[in-house]
Amino acid sequence: MDQELKNIWDNILRTLKDEVSPLSFSTWIKRMKPRHLNEEHFYIQVSDSTHLERAEGFKSLIENCFKLLYHREVLIEFFLPDHVPPVLEEKPRPAAPSSSNLISKYTFDNFIVGSSNNFAFSACFNIAENSTNINFDNPLFLYGGSGLGKTHLINAIGNFILSKDSSKRILYIQTEAFVNEFISTIRKYSYTAFREKYRNVDLLMIDDIQFIEGKEQMQQEFFHTFNTLYENGSRIIMTCDKNPSSLHSLEERLRTRFQSGVIVDIQAPDYETRMAILRSKVAQLSLIIPDESLHHIASHISTNIRELEGAFNTFVSYGQLTHDFSLHTAETSLKNRISPALKKKVSPQLILEVVATFYGVNKEDLLSKKRRKEFAFPRQVMMFLCRNELDFTYEQIGAFTEKDHSTVMHAVKKIESTAEHDLKMQDDLRELRRRISD
Ligand code: ADP
Ligand code: MG
Repeated sequence: MDQELKNIWDNILRTLKDEVSPLSFSTWIKRMKPRHLNEEHFYIQVSDSTHLERAEGFKSLIENCFKLLYHREVLIEFFLPDHVPPVLEEKPRPAAPSSSNLISKYTFDNFIVGSSNNFAFSACFNIAENSTNINFDNPLFLYGGSGLGKTHLINAIGNFILSKDSSKRILYIQTEAFVNEFISTIRKYSYTAFREKYRNVDLLMIDDIQFIEGKEQMQQEFFHTFNTLYENGSRIIMTCDKNPSSLHSLEERLRTRFQSGVIVDIQAPDYETRMAILRSKVAQLSLIIPDESLHHIASHISTNIRELEGAFNTFVSYGQLTHDFSLHTAETSLKNRISPALKKKVSPQLILEVVATFYGVNKEDLLSKKRRKEFAFPRQVMMFLCRNELDFTYEQIGAFTEKDHSTVMHAVKKIESTAEHDLKMQDDLRELRRRISD
């Protein structure tokens, strides 16, 4: 009997105990064996025909009791051991889900590998090639900032496996959709369908698992989904915007599960990778574009491949309109491209305020010349954010903070290189960006 059914039955027994005589309770009620509960029926097994006859006498009592406890109506169906109702019979291996939900355009072929993502790529490619051969690499936990290729990579795994064997049962889902589906499951009490869907796959991929934070019931359900899949030898792949240890509102037992396989991160792309991505896009479009134009885009957009693509697309549409793909067009198109931060009316003042609050210092001290580390460090972070969130030039930042060009450049570079290896710095920057754009 599953745990949930057992809990429900225990609650019913507790209530019934006060309703019937102790003798009836021990002779008839206690011997009933709850077997299955769905939206309409509650199937209970009895031992023999006498038991069946007596059980029928308690039927409406149990139904009422259930309604009282769970606020919904079910019909009790008693059955004898040799009359097992069809719903309870062993089911054949469930077929592949009607749709894997995979995004077919994301493949390994169109994923550019560079130093920032080669570990992530190898881990994913390895899983795709050895999909049934699971050792230490289950689950796979892939994490990194937004727009760095997580969704692309895990979809590539699924698409690769299905291209070799279309009978593989693969399910890809965004955590938000997963949570919504679970909420409607609770509402409709359709647990059986939900569980059949998510527990009978060879590979389950949950994208952006950070959205499960703080959702306790979902975490409980996912814990059991996870265990069932794991025990059945199915693979689980998750992506996240942070390391499992930074998922603060996550049940400890889930965190331990997330950390029990392979954890790989994906970093912001270096210049070479950004150029390679742009060159591959040029090739796909069969355009001829001078390298200096690509260089201009690749050197201005450094932290997010989604944005890099956006900037490239804007440039291409400008170029097609003017029949000119020169550096000049690249400069104009980038200048006119309104960065998401600017759209939200982010100003240097806002960044100043957010950084000051975050590090618990005064705004005046951030703009002062004080060299103490407690001011100097947040000041550098502030400059970095002005550069990255506002696309300010070093001169503009210098004017705002009353510092010279080289001081600003040094500050921005320093935070950039710290963020490359320092997880705490990455988390802090993510949080600061969130506060700035919220
Ligand atoms: P994430 O899920 O990490 O936020 P995505 O996988 O959605 O990021 O990637 C954002 C965009 O950048 C997608 O269009 C994706 O195809 C593209 N992209 C990311 N990394 C690469 C790469 N290494 N090569 C080619 N395209 C990439
Ligand atoms: Mg994604």
